[in-house]
Parts: sequence; structure tokens; C-alpha cells
Amino acid sequence: MSEARNKGIIIIVSGPSASGKGTVVSRALAKADDARIDVQLSISMTTRGIGKGEKEGETYFYVSKEEFEKNIARSNLAEYNSYAGEYYGTPKDKLEEWLNSGSSVILEIDVNGAKQVLRQYPDAVTVYILPPSFQELEYRLRSRGRDSEEKIKYRLAKGRDEIPEAHWYDYILVNEIIEESADDLLCIIRAELNSRRHIEYKIDEVLATYGEEEKND
Ligand code: 5GP
Repeated sequence: MSEARNKGIIIIVSGPSASGKGTVVSRALAKADDARIDVQLSISMTTRGIGKGEKEGETYFYVSKEEFEKNIARSNLAEYNSYAGEYYGTPKDKLEEWLNSGSSVILEIDVNGAKQVLRQYPDAVTVYILPPSFQELEYRLRSRGRDSEEKIKYRLAKGRDEIPEAHWYDYILVNEIIEESADDLLCIIRAELNSRRHIEYKIDEVLATYGEEEKND
């Protein structure tokens, strides 16, 4: 039987660079209140310095290397990795606090992070954001105007290597229209909250009320 008991669910969202996953997630979060879905974005822990306009506990939890390594040692990371010599990871204590409060949590992480999380949270729901085509991906990378020619080629090749991993994700969203993908993401969350594996415990809770009808009158 499920142990969900009014807890939220973990939704892992992955996709290649410029697939639009960040925008899809932020649009879904902006629409979640109206859709009456309690969902939030996970806040990662990092050893990198706090950037301009960033806020402790909002953009990241900023910690020292020693502190991060202590978190690794006490298995407090659902997943972690290092980029440019700095650690980044998903703190388990925070994640579980949010889930226990009934909020579902979106983790925007790469395929490698997704595999790490699934080892510890096998019920996590996985969603892969696919660009409609490589032509579209290239167009989006170019119009961001952020990357050199070499970087664009690198990101496209990385996408080609990574996209086959979408085969083992639970859901695939082909991101043509951001608003539609954001709506679809919320639909997935709603459906998963009503899935048997998540809500089966309710059957016994309802059955336990049998014979108590009059008391409630
Ligand atoms: P930035 O320093 O630009 O905020 O992030 C650098 C990289 O770290 C980005 O590629 C970002 O996706 C990745 N990152 C941010 N948070 C996490 C996390 O919790 N886990 C992992 N594995 N990567 C993260």
C-alpha cells in the first residue's frame, strides 16, 4: 500500500539546453495557484558565491565546501554534482519538509541527477522536455545570443547524446508552445496526485468511516 498520506510528489523535469524547460516550469508555477495545485520549485544548495540579485534561501542555499561535504557524508543530498569546481545539489531535509507539508516539488535537473534521485525516491515522476526539432533547438540557441558558434555546436551535440535518455522518462512534452507545455505539466501533476499509487491509502480511510454516518448528521 502507498505511504503517500497527503504528502506531495516529486516531479523531475529534464531537457536539453534551450528546450525551454526553465520557462515551462516557471509558467507552470505561475499558473499553479489558479489551478489549485500546491507545487513549488526545489531550492538547491551550492558552494558557489552569492550572485548579484540573488537571495539566500530563494535562489540557492549558499554553504561552504566543508558544509556541503558534511551534507554528503550524512546522506542529506537527493542528488549532487559539481560544475566549474563548485558543488550543487538537492538537500533532502528541505525536500522532505516541503513534501511532508503537502506541497509537491519540481526538481529541474539533468539526466544524471534524475537517476540519482530515482534511486532514493523511486516514486518520483519524470518529465522530459523535448524541443520540436534540432532546427528549432539551434534557432532558440542562436536567438538567445548567449553562446559562441563553438558553444552552440557543443550544446547541439550534447542534446543529441542526451535526448535518447528521454526513452525512460514517464512523460515527454514536446515544447512547441510554452503555455501549452506549462498547462500539460500541471495536468501531469494533477493526474499523478490522483494516481492509485499515490492516493490508495484513502480507500481504507473512507472505509473506516463506515457506520459513522449518523454521528456526522
Ligand atoms: P549557476 O551557477 O549558473 O546557477 O548553475 C550552474 C549549473 O548548476 C547549472 O547547469 C545548473 O543547472 C546546475 N545546478 C543548479 N542546481 C543544481 C542542483 O541542485 N543539482 C545539480 N545536479 N545541478 C544543479
